[in-house]
Amino acid sequence: MSNCFILLAAGKGKRFKSKNPKQFINYINKPLFMHSVDKAIKSKMFKTIIIVSNLPIKNIRTKSIKVIKGGKERHESTQNALNFIKNKKIKNVFIHDAARPNFTIRLLKRLKNNLKKNKAVVPYIKTYNSVKFVEKNKIQNLDREKLLFTQTPQCFDFKSIYKLSKLNKKKITDEASLFLTNNRKVKFIKGEENNFKITTIKDFKKPNVKSFYGIGFDIHRLIKNKNLFLGGIKIPFHSGLQGHSDGDVILHAVIDGLLGAMNKKDIGTFYPSNKRKFKNIRSPNMLSPILKILNKDGYSINNVDINLICEKPKVSKYRDKIIKSLCNLLNINKDQVNLKGKTVEKLGLIGKEEAIACEVIISLDHYA
Ligand code: ZN
Repeated sequence: MSNCFILLAAGKGKRFKSKNPKQFINYINKPLFMHSVDKAIKSKMFKTIIIVSNLPIKNIRTKSIKVIKGGKERHESTQNALNFIKNKKIKNVFIHDAARPNFTIRLLKRLKNNLKKNKAVVPYIKTYNSVKFVEKNKIQNLDREKLLFTQTPQCFDFKSIYKLSKLNKKKITDEASLFLTNNRKVKFIKGEENNFKITTIKDFKKPNVKSFYGIGFDIHRLIKNKNLFLGGIKIPFHSGLQGHSDGDVILHAVIDGLLGAMNKKDIGTFYPSNKRKFKNIRSPNMLSPILKILNKDGYSINNVDINLICEKPKVSKYRDKIIKSLCNLLNINKDQVNLKGKTVEKLGLIGKEEAIACEVIISLDHYA
């Protein structure tokens, strides 16, 4: 018995003036819906993740993720997803709107804990506005203390919601309504102010974003009897790069570029070459702690531009492979990395094929 995360991404977004549905528009460096998918994966709580979408979704390589078609209305999309997992031995199901990218994994865990003693758990927030209610042309006051604004993810015992959803033919704006209209108990827990719903194009405007730039440079001597690593992958070549580590000049320059943009000194500070524990370290392993800092401190990568300076190997031959590797390592898209090959007219150490150098410029956004 396991948990399933259903992401509703089939909405048309009537209040949203854009050709693309809003859930596919870029929001902080990835399509809006991917924020929820990535968080569900990161939480490690879900055996199955279902994306309900009426547009094709490419580049989903994770086996636990399934993309299915949605209906015209929200309740039809939910029903499609519930039908899809009917025989998959799901115990709990979390249903979430793709337009809410800012929930925390902590909220997922609180929902799950509360579901142990309940069949439906729903997060809510209060309003600070004064609220009026219009009925038959008469406007009345409403006590805001009695109002709950429900959010998603909402989580449910699968069997209970499956039954209720099957009977429902009405338009609903959330699944909590199903339980309430059928007089079933819903446990309400405190939601998150930041977990607002992106509704208009204005909501996409980045809050307090500052850009930073970092430069990186590295050079290593070529020696026989060593593998050549560039951008995290092995390149067939007669020599490799000398150094305390695997000598990957691209990744070292990238690390320095990242550190530079984050105002965090340099690669030597993090990996002193006199420390034995770093001997023969692979450069992707040097990069990952730096990326952890980047994520923790609220940075995201805009783009990376690279000059690889060498006579051989020919960059054009390996460009696609190196870029693919960098995208995987840095968790960015192909259109955010550029790799240029540069020779030096046979001049100096590099010209004599005795060394390879690399320079990098990186742009980061920081979200305050
Ligand atoms: Zn180096």
